[in-house]
Amino acid sequence: MSGEFDLIERHFRRPATNGQDAVLLGIGDDCALLRTQPGQQLAISSDMLVEGRHFLPGTDPARLGHKALAVNLSDLAAMGARPLGFTLALSLPEIDDAWLAGFSQGLRALANEHGCPLVGGDTTRGPLNICITVFGEVAHGQALRRDAAQPGDDIWISGRTGEARLALEALLGHEWARQAACDQLPTLRQRLEAPQPRLALGRALAGLAHAAIDLSDGLVGDLGHILGRSGRGARLDTGQMPVAPALARLPPDRRWQCLLAGGDDYELLFTAATVHRERVEQAARITGTPVTRIGEITSVPGLVIVDAHGQTLQGRFGGYDHFG
Ligand code: ADP
Ligand code: MG
Repeated sequence: MSGEFDLIERHFRRPATNGQDAVLLGIGDDCALLRTQPGQQLAISSDMLVEGRHFLPGTDPARLGHKALAVNLSDLAAMGARPLGFTLALSLPEIDDAWLAGFSQGLRALANEHGCPLVGGDTTRGPLNICITVFGEVAHGQALRRDAAQPGDDIWISGRTGEARLALEALLGHEWARQAACDQLPTLRQRLEAPQPRLALGRALAGLAHAAIDLSDGLVGDLGHILGRSGRGARLDTGQMPVAPALARLPPDRRWQCLLAGGDDYELLFTAATVHRERVEQAARITGTPVTRIGEITSVPGLVIVDAHGQTLQGRFGGYDHFG
């Protein structure tokens, strides 16, 4: 792409203010070189954001830059890993400097906040498409894997779910969502467009929690990934789940859809032995992250979802499937 090098110089090649310790060589050579500490394993994850599929056309570029990195950092959080750096593969329909300035500013602010510098990438002309790969490190044997849930474990979530979905439905113009959101829309929109990856909590849980996943496609679907990989079942007690005021205004069916299958939450769902309840609560306090116990892992496969009265909830709460 002509102008590719200028574009990288103008928008992406800035020294990071934080997290340079792991970067031996950054943007400008054939490869970046990263250093890992002895006793640590590399944790790697990629996420792609496609216009019209993962974000609405016309989304504020700074928020898009933030979100593109946030969803990747959320994967590191879900493994209990510390960020080292990231690469950015960008396909752009044209060189729009105002858009690029906003995008790179949103990206850089979050990168600096979490000490995760941009170390390389690729740039080409094409439909707007953003692919980030993050690199992190986690001590040997301490990564929070999906296959490690144990029968009897508590199931915990950080924060609360459903607000991003409600914001999306309101932005798409659905009357039921607009009514429930009413004056809360700016806050809900923040949840959709500027999620905060739970990195501090994830690291505090490494070596303490058993299994973990970040909630990107909806709680029930994502919990299903843990259950499938671990060969276990669960009982989910929705009566324990924190509910944002705007969601409390929804009719029950819509509310359960948002809470259990909303997607785009970027909270952590994790399991831990009951003997570690206090340690989990301490990890939450130290990192300033609210956590709630919402169920337990069972040895018999299958998911039972009950309401506050112990009644089984009916409904399809599968996760978001891009090919569904
Ligand atoms: P190569 O031909 O080896 O793929 P490029 O010409 O694509 O190298 O890129 C030159 C340098 O700029 C490399 O260090 C690459 O990592 C970096 N780079 C390219 N695009 C981006 C981008 N969007 N963000 C950050 N770094 C980039
Ligand atoms: Mg290249």
